[in-house]
Amino acid sequence: MSDQQLPSEKSMAKMNKYVEKYLEKTGTSRHPNEEVTESVIKGLAHHVDELGRPLCPCNFYPDKKEELERSREWVCACDEMKIYKYCHCLLFVRDDGLPITEYLPEGHEGKQIYGVVEDPTPENGRELRHKSDEYEASH
Ligand code: SF4
Repeated sequence: MSDQQLPSEKSMAKMNKYVEKYLEKTGTSRHPNEEVTESVIKGLAHHVDELGRPLCPCNFYPDKKEELERSREWVCACDEMKIYKYCHCLLFVRDDGLPITEYLPEGHEGKQIYGVVEDPTPENGRELRHKSDEYEASH
């Protein structure tokens, strides 16, 4: 990878700091494969450089700027993380590397892929859990 493809040091430092804090806040862990974590953080930092916001790097957006104007749903930490504690990028996971799925609605692809993965620290995170009904109604 050339230097041009790397995000700025400033954005990397900002996202590394954010991720550390959010891991602590939610009681989640880094993925056991550090490359997974690093590549997601790089993707987030690229978006900070490009768009000014850490848009989730694991989705496809027809138009990233339009996506941000439309909603902050996929700005990290995204609504799914704040409501269900589910991170499909595997940035915030259990220490065995699995994403938490136990709070996801039935039929959500996370539950279909991983089955029911229980939350080892239910007292932490899910700061927008009260919005789950509203979220489900709009998706
Ligand atoms: S899935 Fe959500 S919490 Fe995970 S990296 Fe993407 S935006 Fe962040």
